[in-house]
Amino acid sequence: KSVKKGFDFTLMVAGESGLGKSTLVNSLFLTDLYKDRKLLNAEERITQTVEITKHTVDIEEKGVKLKLTIVDTPGFGDAVNNTECWKSVADYIDQQFEQYFRDESGLNRKNIQDNRVHCCLYFISPFGHGLRPLDVEFMKALHEKVNIVPVLAKADTLTPSEVKKKKIKIREEIEQYGIKIYQFPDCDSDEDEDFKQQDLELKESIPFAVIGSNTVVEAKGKRVRGRLYPWGIVEVENSAHCDFVKLRNMLVRTHMQDLKDVTRETHYENYRAQCIQSMTRMVVKERNRNKLTRESGTDFPIPVVPGVTDETEKLIREKDEEVRHPDRELDTHTISVSTGHVI
Ligand code: GDP
Repeated sequence: KSVKKGFDFTLMVAGESGLGKSTLVNSLFLTDLYKDRKLLNAEERITQTVEITKHTVDIEEKGVKLKLTIVDTPGFGDAVNNTECWKSVADYIDQQFEQYFRDESGLNRKNIQDNRVHCCLYFISPFGHGLRPLDVEFMKALHEKVNIVPVLAKADTLTPSEVKKKKIKIREEIEQYGIKIYQFPDCDSDEDEDFKQQDLELKESIPFAVIGSNTVVEAKGKRVRGRLYPWGIVEVENSAHCDFVKLRNMLVRTHMQDLKDVTRETHYENYRAQCIQSMTRMVVKERNRNKLTRESGTDFPIPVVPGVTDETEKLIREKDEEVRHPDRELDTHTISVSTGHVI
């Protein structure tokens, strides 16, 4: 069904400017998505705020259509003061969830345009010693909202042993700081050995060491996408040179559907649950003030739940407390009451 209908996929790229984001996106999808890009000078960047830009392309391969949306975050990490510069990115992701939530609650639910962000490629500089504070802050702020796939940018600037060491260090730091990046699903135990090996290699490639290039060069009589240096050619699609092919396969072939499923089942569900919780709280508050009418000026006209008694409201408040302070011991009253009701 999906093949017939075509796929849509939204990919976000984030990371400091100059790390090769646009070059990699162009290399991944072989289209020039950044024709009209305007680069700012140093002075303009001092007070720059993070912008969010969106480019959409329709790609067709062997009759299969893909509507690809690339969301870029120019300006991220560029200003002198980068405090909370991840905020506009987080707001953008929430806005897409909110739009989807509204559409889903509306009348025409059949043709909802899904603009939710399915994956965020986060570019890590190859020049630092592992993660920088801004990287940690960004990933921690967004890991509950989007599937983060970290990539080690411009891997051709590192030797193979440096790449290996950096990957280990970055993986350790991700663990140490409690960052929840996208987890590849485990493969079934009855899969064949080749498949299991591929799966293991994919998991050990994190962060994918990538190289991008907008030029085609000649290597051993073949024309390939690569970077020409006085000492040789780096081939983007050569898996001995970098993880570009692994990343591309993962994104467009093997894990696209899983990235969409996790977005829908985990990240969007989290958002939805929070939304409903705060809406319930709003209703309770309004009722307490005895002002709630069907026409109350809320954006979401929430129907008054029949049979919401003072007791139920009390329970909702207690449940709320439980969610906010899970470690706090429940008093016997809460337990005995809550077993008797389904909220
Ligand atoms: P963006 O600001 O993150 O979108 O970065 P760009 O894609 O504009 O790239 C910035 C500069 O880095 C350009 O001069 C690119 O040619 C160069 N560049 C891009 N990708 C790579 C790479 O993989 N390796 C190296 N060495 N340079 C790269």
